[in-house]
Amino acid sequence: MTSVQQPLHSIEDRLRGLRCCWDRYVAQGSLEQFIEFTVAINSLAEYFNRLRLPGLVRLCEGLENAALTQLGNETSHPIAPQHIASLQRQIEALFGSVQTSRPVNVERRTHEPAPVSDIDWIKPRSVWIIAASGQRELAQTLRGKLQFFGFKIFELEWSAENPPEDIPLAVLFLPQSVQAGPMEFAYITKIRTCCPASQLIYLGEQASIEPIVMLMRAGIDSAMPADQQSLMVLNCIFDLVKTGQPEKYRVLVVEDSRVATAVVQRTLSQHGIDTYAISEPAKLLEALESYRSDLILMDMYMPRFNGVEATRVLRQMPAYHALPIVYLSGESAVAMQVEALRLGGDQFLSKPFNPVLLAAVVKSKIERYRDTQRSTRLDGLTGLINHTGAKSGLKALVERAAQNGGLTHGSLTVAMIDIDHFKSINDTYGHPVGDQVIRGLAWLLKARLRTVDLIGRYGGEEFIVALPDVTPEQAGAVIDRIRADFSALPHAHPHGVLHANFSAGMASFPTYDTEAALIEAADGALLQAKRLGRNRVEVAS
Ligand code: GH3
Ligand code: MG
Ligand code: MG
Ligand code: MG
Repeated sequence: MTSVQQPLHSIEDRLRGLRCCWDRYVAQGSLEQFIEFTVAINSLAEYFNRLRLPGLVRLCEGLENAALTQLGNETSHPIAPQHIASLQRQIEALFGSVQTSRPVNVERRTHEPAPVSDIDWIKPRSVWIIAASGQRELAQTLRGKLQFFGFKIFELEWSAENPPEDIPLAVLFLPQSVQAGPMEFAYITKIRTCCPASQLIYLGEQASIEPIVMLMRAGIDSAMPADQQSLMVLNCIFDLVKTGQPEKYRVLVVEDSRVATAVVQRTLSQHGIDTYAISEPAKLLEALESYRSDLILMDMYMPRFNGVEATRVLRQMPAYHALPIVYLSGESAVAMQVEALRLGGDQFLSKPFNPVLLAAVVKSKIERYRDTQRSTRLDGLTGLINHTGAKSGLKALVERAAQNGGLTHGSLTVAMIDIDHFKSINDTYGHPVGDQVIRGLAWLLKARLRTVDLIGRYGGEEFIVALPDVTPEQAGAVIDRIRADFSALPHAHPHGVLHANFSAGMASFPTYDTEAALIEAADGALLQAKRLGRNRVEVAS
């Protein structure tokens, strides 16, 4: 397998790499160098996308599109001087925006364990709320909630001349009336320009597509109905805080020609995509089982049976029903291509392939696939992964810890968390208030834990958390701190506020060395915490 871990590049490395490709092209002007340059922009866009910096993604995409229109063929390179100058301007604008978007002072809350991945882009922790005069009440509610979770809030008037110096993680727009007018659009555009990396969220009823398109043109990233109250907004903002390196895209290449395999693998790896190749379709199931790919790149003609037949077989298996399958073949007959798609393929690319197009198709198919997979693994009330998702996530963490031999970067602690006397909260205040308490705990966990930590809703009022690469003592301190904070968190009900607390049980790898043993031991410790009086954290002995 080629799953060699690529080193994590800093943002400086990435920018330097892009600049380097460009300078080389400007000096020598070959098509090959231009392709390298477009690949570098694409991977920078990818990087910003992973960090959820929509404004910068857009700037990269603008640059990428401009570059792609110049791609042409061998004879059109080097491109004309005016095109060079125009791309140069776009590159400078992008670099300028990156520099202004980076927070200078970074504070890390002391109880947070140090992050494992050395992502060097720390997200700002402030949110701007731009509220019209009739929206003060909603603004107040949002401010209170966000402040509790540690965000710094700036409230501004619509059309305030001097926005704060500070760079926001997100900007919330609360308009006066349902329809945004020219003045609102102009102001959104202005904020977009001065905060290229921030998420701009518009809270207003939008029943049809056209006004949302207009808002997006002005620079809004997402529009949501105001009556959803704070729920969606908070979820959206917490999602932004996650900045971890998600799993690499994984592509299984089924191809009998060694030359074709090498070319495909090289192209995909230049785009940061992990690959594993087999030359025999007969080995397909075995490979899928062990490699767990997000997409299959399938050759049409191979010995024994062909790609279309293999696809038909896969489509009959529930596990591979939705797995994207892209054909890569020299087959040029349209009828044959149509037949291949009818029998379960998702797309047809012909050889020789355009590397930029191949990578773009592969990435977009995988993104869609992962999105749909995600929604079946998420819990609707909290947005956390559900029971099944949590179990398989924990299994992967245990495997990783085992590979690392249970040493410093191979420790793993599991905590089972259960809200105390939750039934009586439901009985006293009603189910919807109970739901709000569950969400409050979910948000607190999301706000306080790292991206590498697993957080799942295990059952009704029960959560599972797994913290890799910290000692059991560090994990215990983090969970106990969250316990104390949760008991101080006020939950609103129609007649005032209530407080809730939870008990937790913890168990660590390698003392417990399977997913099942960890869960069972943590559950036992949780029971002990309940017996000893609740609102406490116990460790499995
Ligand atoms: P203990 O301190 O021992 O954990 O007591 P408890 O009352 O929290 O535990 P018990 O298991 O007796 O009750 C859990 C309750 O949680 C029962 C169930 O109706 C309620 N519940 C489960 N899922 C949800 C949900 O999604 N929303 C709400 N509001 N209640 C839920
Ligand atoms: Mg072949
Ligand atoms: Mg309970
Ligand atoms: Mg329970």
